[in-house]
Amino acid sequence: MTVHVFPQLEIPHTLAAGPGPGNTDERVLQRFASAGVADHMTPDVLRGMVECKHMLREVWGTDNVHTFGAAGTGWTALDMMFAAVRPGDKVVAFTNGTFSGIDALTLRIKAATTEELAANSLDPQAASVTVIEVPHGQSVTADVIEAALSEHKPKWAFMAHWETGSGRINDVQAFSDACEAHGAMGLVDAVSSLGVGDFRIDDFPGVVGWASCPQKGICCLPLTYAPVSFTDRFIDSLKATGASTYGNHPIFEARHWGIVDGKDVEKGTYHRTHSGYAVAAFHEALRLTLEQSVASRAADYTRHEAVLREAVEAMGCEVTSNMTSLVVLNLPPSLAGREMELVQHCRAQNFGIWPTLSAPVQVRIGILNQLNRSAIEEIVRRFAQAIRDLGGEVNNEDVDAVLHRHYGVAIAAE
Ligand SMILES: *Cc1c(COP(=O)(O)O)cnc(C)c1O
Repeated sequence: MTVHVFPQLEIPHTLAAGPGPGNTDERVLQRFASAGVADHMTPDVLRGMVECKHMLREVWGTDNVHTFGAAGTGWTALDMMFAAVRPGDKVVAFTNGTFSGIDALTLRIKAATTEELAANSLDPQAASVTVIEVPHGQSVTADVIEAALSEHKPKWAFMAHWETGSGRINDVQAFSDACEAHGAMGLVDAVSSLGVGDFRIDDFPGVVGWASCPQKGICCLPLTYAPVSFTDRFIDSLKATGASTYGNHPIFEARHWGIVDGKDVEKGTYHRTHSGYAVAAFHEALRLTLEQSVASRAADYTRHEAVLREAVEAMGCEVTSNMTSLVVLNLPPSLAGREMELVQHCRAQNFGIWPTLSAPVQVRIGILNQLNRSAIEEIVRRFAQAIRDLGGEVNNEDVDAVLHRHYGVAIAAE
């Protein structure tokens, strides 16, 4: 067999204006590329991990000792959190889009009995899991949560904080309250909200497990660490039941971050081989977030999302989302049904917007780490051009008026 050596892989720069990954900061990439070759027990690597742990507690707003990074992506963190759910456990999961739908699948996999899993291993129908489906485009609200938890009184309840598939914020306060009222342990997918919204998880005592990701609000795409945080109650439950994993076990993984027997220790002990490059990048991303502060970044997201929302509305689009990192929209009536075509047209020009991944097909434009005027104006300009390229009409003056009102000076959206 001949082995072909391919040319070096070149990946062109794109304008990442989707739901994620966000635009990784230059400072983060620079730290990633500047770390020296060092093994996973080198003092500076271990110190970096301990410092990350402390910064993460600040970013999450928590005193939970079990706060650290799961090595991998958002799904790794979610899988680690759901590892505490055992076959036959009673679960209520609320879904309102693609990602919470996959979370509910994960929960059905974890809670399925051996027989249920074997009967349909990729899509098990676990009798102990109740999935409450809220329609795409709507939020999970207090009444729905309260009704389901009071009826079923599950061991575990699950909800996405911000559902990126439909761009909807769900009522985490009501979720926490209902979990407390009905004795459920709340688990939350905070993949899209951490580092974007201004919240402290210790304000939601009904929630015992939180899982996020590196590539959205934390702006750290170089495959690094997905933030997790677990309360003592979660860890006690996990210790009592066990979990069928070593690599992605919350208690084992925590050891390398200097968390042993529920306490902080000076330095971590071996769990798996961590990368100094990944630690350095993650460390810088957390420093960046805290230097700017979660609250001020959240205020910037709110401010710039409002501009983008009003600008696309001025183009005749209808926005159905309420997240601040993303607008999910229907095209003007004259272009209805051509969402996929428009998205592909933009992507072919390195303008990385997205369609929704489940029905109905809508367009998603994100602003992760694009928190400045010129970035938003660029996104608005390129989206307006794409509408024109498809034969739609955009009134420049209306769009300019929006930008002018928010940012002060008109730009030409030609
Ligand atoms: C992006 C996303 C995920 C998946 O994260 P990965 O980093 O792709 O693994 C899960 N849940 C939500 C709500 C998301 O937005």
